[in-house]
Amino acid sequence: MSKEVKRYEVTVLLDASSSYTVEADSVEAAEHAAWEAHDEASPSLCHQCSGSMDLGDAYGMLIYCDGNEVTDTTHDAREIADLRAERDALLAERDRMSTALDEIGGLCRALRQGGPDPMDLEDLSNALEQAVDLAHAALQGAQP
Ligand SMILES: [Zn+2]
Repeated sequence: MSKEVKRYEVTVLLDASSSYTVEADSVEAAEHAAWEAHDEASPSLCHQCSGSMDLGDAYGMLIYCDGNEVTDTTHDAREIADLRAERDALLAERDRMSTALDEIGGLCRALRQGGPDPMDLEDLSNALEQAVDLAHAALQGAQP
């Protein structure tokens, strides 16, 4: 069994960074000042390095203050933050739905064992309404 040998061109993606120290009265102002500092510095590769490497455009910043990361402006970081918030909201919705369904289940058992007590029927009706509202909210939250 012989395999055909082909030639592949492979681009290895790697990260590069350049750091600046700026003084500002807010994170947004620091980001703005850093973009200006970066534009002014305009980092480039020396002749030797540019033979084997390309330098891409800046795509974001990590901003630190007092040793702590205060913001990550990359698209991926923002998308991850949005997705996490969406996931947390859906999980909270699921928990509320589960609680409502448990309540309905308990009321159904009470009805089966004790006959229709008007109070139980009212509670069941309220719980069903709540479950339907929660289901609607969850479905709306799931829309893009
Ligand atoms: Zn070099």
